[in-house]
Amino acid sequence: FTQEHIPQICVVGSGPAGFYTAQHLLKHHTWAHVDIYEKQLVPFGLVRFGVAPDHPEVKNVINTFTQTARSDRCAFWGNVVVGRDVMVPELREAYHAVVLSYGAEDHQALGIPGEELPGVLSARAFVGWYNGLPENRELMPDLSCDTAVILGQGNVALDVARILLTPPEHLEKTDITAASLRVLRQSRVKTVWIVGRRGPLQVAFTIKELREMVQLPGTRPILNPVDFLGLQDRIKEVPRPRRRLTELLLRTATEKRGPEEAACQESASRAWGLRFFRSPQQVLPSPDGQRTAGIRLAVTKLEGVGEAARAVPTGDMEDLRCGLVLSSVGYKSRPIDPSVPFDPKLGVIPNTEGRVVDVPGLYCSGWVKRGPTGVLGTTMNDSFLTGQALLQDLQGGLLPSGPRPGYAAIEALLSGRGVQPVSFSDWEKLDAEEVSRGQGAGKPREKLVDPQEMLQLLGR
Ligand code: FAD
Repeated sequence: FTQEHIPQICVVGSGPAGFYTAQHLLKHHTWAHVDIYEKQLVPFGLVRFGVAPDHPEVKNVINTFTQTARSDRCAFWGNVVVGRDVMVPELREAYHAVVLSYGAEDHQALGIPGEELPGVLSARAFVGWYNGLPENRELMPDLSCDTAVILGQGNVALDVARILLTPPEHLEKTDITAASLRVLRQSRVKTVWIVGRRGPLQVAFTIKELREMVQLPGTRPILNPVDFLGLQDRIKEVPRPRRRLTELLLRTATEKRGPEEAACQESASRAWGLRFFRSPQQVLPSPDGQRTAGIRLAVTKLEGVGEAARAVPTGDMEDLRCGLVLSSVGYKSRPIDPSVPFDPKLGVIPNTEGRVVDVPGLYCSGWVKRGPTGVLGTTMNDSFLTGQALLQDLQGGLLPSGPRPGYAAIEALLSGRGVQPVSFSDWEKLDAEEVSRGQGAGKPREKLVDPQEMLQLLGR
């Protein structure tokens, strides 16, 4: 084969969706070349900046991604913001096909009065902070209050609750940033309420994360048995994963504990609770109006049953005292470029099986394709499907024929614009530096959080 026959493919975003799409393309096509563009200086998206530091096993996927990146038919170009440094039409000119896998970078606003008060944070920013996301490194949340409220009942909410309540010495050997561990050590937060608009049958977290909460050392759960009335009978009708989850909730809420367990819980100095059937109305200010003092919740009841049940207000209100409100009601994708269709309501790029509607040669995968839900396994499957659709189109002659310049053309554009991409071997230098900085403290790594410093280390 000759240079002309090499399909040049571009992937935007180096999170799991980007890497799994690249992996599929390289595995199932013998010559295709894949360039992955990433706006951060470092790869791996939410595996690095989302997944909790005390879940190291989840991050093992990085080994597979690293193998993909080391392929001589794959290149990583970090420090390139697509939609700003280079536009999607320019990428489409340079490549035979472009896959958008840029995730969901925004958070869903609450849209209630008081949301702008100090003491109200998005869970997204809080997670970014403890995971060393450069843009959140200066967040320094004020943890001097005794009660925090998390709005939302998904896995991210439980991650945040767990990090707030885990004894700091249990986080010492993780890759949590040194700066956030220092703040957590000073934390006075004793109680965390995890608030949801609906009931126990509608929670969005999974059993693994719930079990970790139930077993959190020095911490006891507060569940109101009244919320679980009648659930025992309905449990048989629900699908198995939901049933097992609900059984664990039910046991935790209603089971009599043995004397040993009871004593252990009595002595627990910290607590977490699930507050069901509550919808946030307003963040309540302190008397001087300078900070968060509580949250006003509307009491709700369910209309309909199962997953589709809707929460409707009963008219009753409840005020909950707290100094910290973390909103964890979802991530949200942004439009990347005016040339790319975007569905603002669903927050996704409209597509059929990963093919962007009405734009031949443009594809999408991951959270920007499906919306911001699902674990790594879900993202892997949907990225493989996008890769498959692309290869089908390639084989069917639906992509441009003739050679395309690929990175050579984009490199010239970027250099004219003063943008200096970093490569995967640059990342491997930073990676080695992080690992060596972590060694003294027994941590897998101490993350670099300052882009200036990273560039300096790379001699830029
Ligand atoms: P992302 O991982 O967000 O990757 C998108 C990438 O695109 C990022 O690197 C971003 O910097 C880059 N990008 C964005 N805009 C641009 C641009 N304009 N130009 C260039 N690059 C750009 N799943 C599990 O299985 N287990 C867990 O324990 C787990 N924990 C999680 C914890 C949190 C807090 C969150 C939010 C998610 C968690 N998940 C977990 C889910 C998992 O992270 C997602 O399924 C997965 O990361 C989605 O992949 P993605 O590639 O679509 O998005």
